[in-house]
Amino acid sequence: YHRMLHRCLAQIQGLFEVSPFDHFSGQGSLGVVAVGCAHAKLLQAMEGRASNLQILGLTSVWPLPERKLTRWLRGLERVLVLEEGGPFVEEGLTALAQRAGLELSISGRHDRVIPEEGELGEEDIATALARLDPAYQPPERAPAPRAMPSKVPLCEDCPYRPTFEALLRAIGRHGGRERHIVVGETGCMVRANLPPFELFDVKYGLGSGLGLALGLALSGTPEHIIALLGDSSFFHSDINALPQAQQLGLPLVVVILDNGTTALTGGQPHPGSPVDELGRPRACTDLAAVIRGYGLEPRLCSPEDVPAMEAAFDEALEAQDLRLIIVRGPCPKYTRQRTA
Ligand code: SF4
Repeated sequence: YHRMLHRCLAQIQGLFEVSPFDHFSGQGSLGVVAVGCAHAKLLQAMEGRASNLQILGLTSVWPLPERKLTRWLRGLERVLVLEEGGPFVEEGLTALAQRAGLELSISGRHDRVIPEEGELGEEDIATALARLDPAYQPPERAPAPRAMPSKVPLCEDCPYRPTFEALLRAIGRHGGRERHIVVGETGCMVRANLPPFELFDVKYGLGSGLGLALGLALSGTPEHIIALLGDSSFFHSDINALPQAQQLGLPLVVVILDNGTTALTGGQPHPGSPVDELGRPRACTDLAAVIRGYGLEPRLCSPEDVPAMEAAFDEALEAQDLRLIIVRGPCPKYTRQRTA
């Protein structure tokens, strides 16, 4: 299999060498490799501005299209790599240049020409371009930063709102916040951590909520653990912790907010979504049926029936075993967009 893997990677690399999605522009001895979405940010930062830059918008990074990159690197004196996350392409390019015997300097995250951490902003890119290319004049006024979706409050008509309100009231009836640990999730759910709810005690990456909650319940901590999951995060990887949760049967309340989409990032479908990428209706995976397949019986609630939802939360918080509640309320924002 190892040999087969190498053969497949070589085939994929061959396809990337001729990828029509990579984009070359500009000329000169200064180069910028902008990886994925960084290319769009770079073009925005350069809009209408003079520069002496050769630009490569690179879309495929593993395996790197080495022949194409080596050809492009020849004749360049300095290269700036713009990429999100760590210096992955930057390190690959540095190794490639060394193997090809090219003498050029490669900058990016490792030498902090762009910030070592965090999402790349247009201001970061403009500052880095000004350091690389004397002909480039950064905009005098930094563009207004885009509000991070996770920092935007829940929509007024979001079904999460009555759900969180009901959950907080139920928590209040069962000893208050100090008697509970709420594990949150990524997605629109993360907005539950903004005022007025400020719900989370713990939150990590997408799809980690159930595993984290299970670990906390297993630790024997006296607080009752509540895991708040989204439907997309459940299908992404919370589901992997479900067999173990079923086996252990620890006191744990799992609330899955099923809004039928991946709302925070733009309404992409997941296996439980009733429509596909083009908005066409389709048969979807039934979340409750999946859970039943693990030998668990979820309680189904609607955010429109607040008394029933509160009763379900009360019962779950009084129980000494695993309880699952699915609150099913479609995201109105993407439902509206689909029907418009
Ligand atoms: S986009 Fe949908 S799920 Fe997200 S906050 Fe708005 S209504 Fe709620």
